[in-house]
Amino acid sequence: MTMSFDEFGLAPGIRRAITDLGFEKPTPVQMRVIPFLMTADRDLVALAQTGTGKTAAYGLPILHRTDPANRATQTLILCPTRELCVQITRDLHAFAAHTKGLSIQAIYGGAPMDTQMRALEKGAHIIVATPGRMLDMLRRGRAQLAKVQHVVLDEADEMLNMGFQEDLEAILKTVPKGVRTLLFSATMQRQVAAIAGRYMNTPEEITIGERNSGSETVTHEYYMVHARDRYAALKRIIDVYPTIYGIIFCRTRLETHDVSSRLMADGYNADALHGDLSQAQRDRVLGAFRTRHLQLLVATDVAARGLDVTDLTHAINFSLPAEAAQYTHRSGRTGRAGKPGISVVLLNMREEHKIGILERVVKKRFAHKRVPSGREVCAAQLHALLERVRQVTVDEAEIAPYIGQIEAILSDLPAPEVLKRFVSLEFNRFLAYYKDSPDLNASGNSPPDRKAKGPPRERAAGEMTGFIVNLGDRNGLTPGELIGLVNRASRGPVFQFGRIQIDRDRTYFEASGGDPRILLDARSLPSYKGRKMEIRAFDPEQRPPRPNSRQSPRRDKRPAQ
Ligand code: ADP
Ligand code: MG
Repeated sequence: MTMSFDEFGLAPGIRRAITDLGFEKPTPVQMRVIPFLMTADRDLVALAQTGTGKTAAYGLPILHRTDPANRATQTLILCPTRELCVQITRDLHAFAAHTKGLSIQAIYGGAPMDTQMRALEKGAHIIVATPGRMLDMLRRGRAQLAKVQHVVLDEADEMLNMGFQEDLEAILKTVPKGVRTLLFSATMQRQVAAIAGRYMNTPEEITIGERNSGSETVTHEYYMVHARDRYAALKRIIDVYPTIYGIIFCRTRLETHDVSSRLMADGYNADALHGDLSQAQRDRVLGAFRTRHLQLLVATDVAARGLDVTDLTHAINFSLPAEAAQYTHRSGRTGRAGKPGISVVLLNMREEHKIGILERVVKKRFAHKRVPSGREVCAAQLHALLERVRQVTVDEAEIAPYIGQIEAILSDLPAPEVLKRFVSLEFNRFLAYYKDSPDLNASGNSPPDRKAKGPPRERAAGEMTGFIVNLGDRNGLTPGELIGLVNRASRGPVFQFGRIQIDRDRTYFEASGGDPRILLDARSLPSYKGRKMEIRAFDPEQRPPRPNSRQSPRRDKRPAQ
């Protein structure tokens, strides 16, 4: 059965927004849920994996049924986290891009109440909220649910896992009797069934795929390593996928911290997301990850909850989750919206039997993969490098004045020799690092080399120069953006970055490899969010210690692409 978005009878403005978004045909959940919500009036329990398009499945028909002329709140959407709340609100705004006069408000904790209260005072047709903050608003009389027609419980299982049961029930008790309740969940666990039983009216049940099973487009792979080689194996796996964009799951905050600091020290474009971060730090890390300035996010399960970043290539289980069911949520972070994804599991010898358990949870076979050898990593990196050479856009106009110089200096070298040297420039560090690298497979024959450490990506050659920029946290600057700004401004040889320390109003950073004079010349610098960038040199010894600022020893010289 193929179906198109035209057949649902959605308003033309909504239909146009779907086209703008590039949605060509409805996902399986949408095919079943949209017609049901457009026609029937009964409650609904829909079970589907993450990444199957549930937001549009309920969002489109609800928008269609919302009356902009009626100023009352007509729909309440509850979801487990602030990030998800923002994401759903963003999606609904996109769906309503051509619908006039609709107000959609996000209400979540960890942000000032007064701004949200003012927004509610102006009237919200649709409220998207986390349960705790919503209940707060209701108790303070700041939200009116008397005219609500639809209540959506999105990721109901996660809300219950996170301990929102009481808040949820308190909210559900305040909504009018005849309200239509829609519950979405990846799993039908006992608590979810209990909520459905208590607050819903003989709901229609729509199950997409098998209950609790993993997403169709995810392949599952595991690697057997000695416990002590876990980190070295992680690096090989990352290196063999040069365009990797993924989450590395750890079990504890400590482990998250440990893995992310080692990756950063080794020059990877990685950062950590865990419960010890302030809201501002969390936003910064998530923002960098979402915009792909950050390639690898090292996170605990709790911190990664509700994070909707699409197109992840990998979900890596650095250590296994405490409960097997959690694995579905981890691997569901990749393979979203029908795109292929890889879920990687690192195991030591004692954990091998756990693969069978995971296979039963996701109902799929796991492939045993060998940790790539140094040579395989080098081959993959070389391939990626050559691919970049093939695809780079040459700015003919800008490079023209330099062609003479290039030819003059390199004229005595034959073309194949030039090619080899250009490739070596980038590639030598991999060849050097992986020279004589040991076999890391736990089942392998060669004894693992305990001294396998050191940087796979180039450590900055030459001396670092210190700089101060007149932009900081307040301007929303992130390390990734700084690296991009500097390297775009310098045009010539790229800078390699040492420490980056973002303070409130300014940022210290260390860099080497490029021409510092260009950075110090205000004329070559761009504006950033309306503020003219200015850089001056500074002496690292004189920097006042700032215990509260975040330090990032990243050395990657280019953001993820
Ligand atoms: P879920 O809530 O089921 O986890 P989402 O609603 O967040 O999934 O959708 C996952 C991703 O798929 C989003 O990036 C969304 O824009 C995209 N998406 C949803 N429906 C479609 C569609 N019909 N065609 C293409 N992409 C879609
Ligand atoms: Mg969702």
